[in-house]
Amino acid sequence: MSENLQCTDTLHSRGFRVTPQRMVILRILQEADTHLNPTEVYQRAQHAMPGLTEATVYRTLAFLTDQGMVLAAHIGSGQLVYEIAGHAHHHLICRACGYTLEIEHELLAELYRLFKVSTGYQIDSLHTTFFGLCPECQAPELNNVA
Ligand SMILES: [Zn+2]
Ligand SMILES: [Zn+2]
Repeated sequence: MSENLQCTDTLHSRGFRVTPQRMVILRILQEADTHLNPTEVYQRAQHAMPGLTEATVYRTLAFLTDQGMVLAAHIGSGQLVYEIAGHAHHHLICRACGYTLEIEHELLAELYRLFKVSTGYQIDSLHTTFFGLCPECQAPELNNVA
């Protein structure tokens, strides 16, 4: 897969070894259509690489996140989920029902520009989680009627 080759090049050019466990975990995240928590990554990795330990999965995810090849997101309650880096987006999570929505980074681009203008900070958070109430949970009385 070309994205995998790209990742290999990225690691090489930064002087890191392309270890089998790094490749396996990158492939799992590429093939997943969604965010995975470390346990889910570990479960899938075991099929591809029996003998891989959970600690190695955690370490590898942290390494790939540091390298910007994987995105981590806090989804509340201290939980982290991971996905392959690629499209810039953020998450909206409903505190009441847990419903999660992805929003394109475009929607926040203007806000980031304003941060830059007013604070001088160049914000590079590309996987931020916002908590709130989804439209349905904002109007519980309407739901009761329906
Ligand atoms: Zn909700
Ligand atoms: Zn995400």
